[in-house]
Amino acid sequence: MSNKIPIAGDQILRVGPVNPAVAHVLDDEFNARVLPLAEQRQKFLNEVGDQIRIAVCSGKIGVDSELMQALPNLEAIINFGVGYDATDVAQAQERGIPMSNTPDVLTDCVADTALGLYLNTLRRLSDAERFVRAGSWAAGENFKLTTRASGRKVGILGLGRIGQAIASRLLGFGCEIHYHSRAPKNSSGFAYHASAVELAEATDVLIVAAAGGPETAGLVDAEVLKAVGPDGFIINIARGSVIDEPALIKALQRGVIAGAGLDVFAHEPHIPAGLLELDNVVLLPHLGSGTVETRADMASLTLANLRSYLADRTLVTPI
Ligand code: NAP
Repeated sequence: MSNKIPIAGDQILRVGPVNPAVAHVLDDEFNARVLPLAEQRQKFLNEVGDQIRIAVCSGKIGVDSELMQALPNLEAIINFGVGYDATDVAQAQERGIPMSNTPDVLTDCVADTALGLYLNTLRRLSDAERFVRAGSWAAGENFKLTTRASGRKVGILGLGRIGQAIASRLLGFGCEIHYHSRAPKNSSGFAYHASAVELAEATDVLIVAAAGGPETAGLVDAEVLKAVGPDGFIINIARGSVIDEPALIKALQRGVIAGAGLDVFAHEPHIPAGLLELDNVVLLPHLGSGTVETRADMASLTLANLRSYLADRTLVTPI
């Protein structure tokens, strides 16, 4: 199908429950198709799969390998969110299908969430609130002493947009910033380490901000956790897949590391019982970018990418 031929609304496919503002425009303005639930999916794809030219998806439910194969005339993928590891990027690249995401507009809110988790985890704020609500303070008990958060050595695993925004916030707390990415970013002025293990060994707290996907799956493994050490902490606002979750649970249970603050998990929204029962862990429901303002900006950028592709086959923020 030539991509010069105008694209009709019913050649756009909504994959999964995308942001309500985006869904509203797809439904009302474009009358786009919606990918049905599993039971009716095959019939739908057999009937109209070859008509779909644009897929609009999210970082949570992307265009996976099987779905992409069922869309032989797919021309573009518009992703709500900066992370696109739920989409089969390798197949998209092989087929020359361009993809957009929503970078930058969410960086500040996700970095704010990382700082919230950092302070909460080291100072055990959620644990302290549970202590107050349980009446323990009123009953005369003192809450346990916690760990100083200012002036620490912090390792950022993945010094990208969000990693750098976390680092600049931590400078305000007098922290010394170290990092590991695949390539050094000399202009950052921070200390580079050649591996995740070396980064963990050199720092008190490891903050995971690297992209998800096959390349980073299990990057934080038992060896890295050992290097974090019994007085060290891990914060993850990137993707659950970057940490070996069973190894993390064991490390927390056995005191291999002191604590963890997690916004993301391996099989969301499932959180293993091993994590739920621990007090030295702060657990959030993947809310990194979840503010009214940022979600509105992400919706605008998603729709700007869609409209741009429809108008002249370009994307505003291609990956
Ligand atoms: P970005 O600018 O692309 O940064 C990603 C970083 O990961 C880059 O610095 C990259 O550095 C590093 N990286 C990639 N592969 C690596 C590897 N194998 N080893 C070490 N580092 C690696 O993306 P961003 O905008 O900062 O977003 C980062 C991630 O945050 C997203 O991919 C997404 O998964 C996650 N996120 C989470 C939330 C939330 O709600 N919790 C919200 C938004 C985003 P090099 O290229 O130099 O290796």
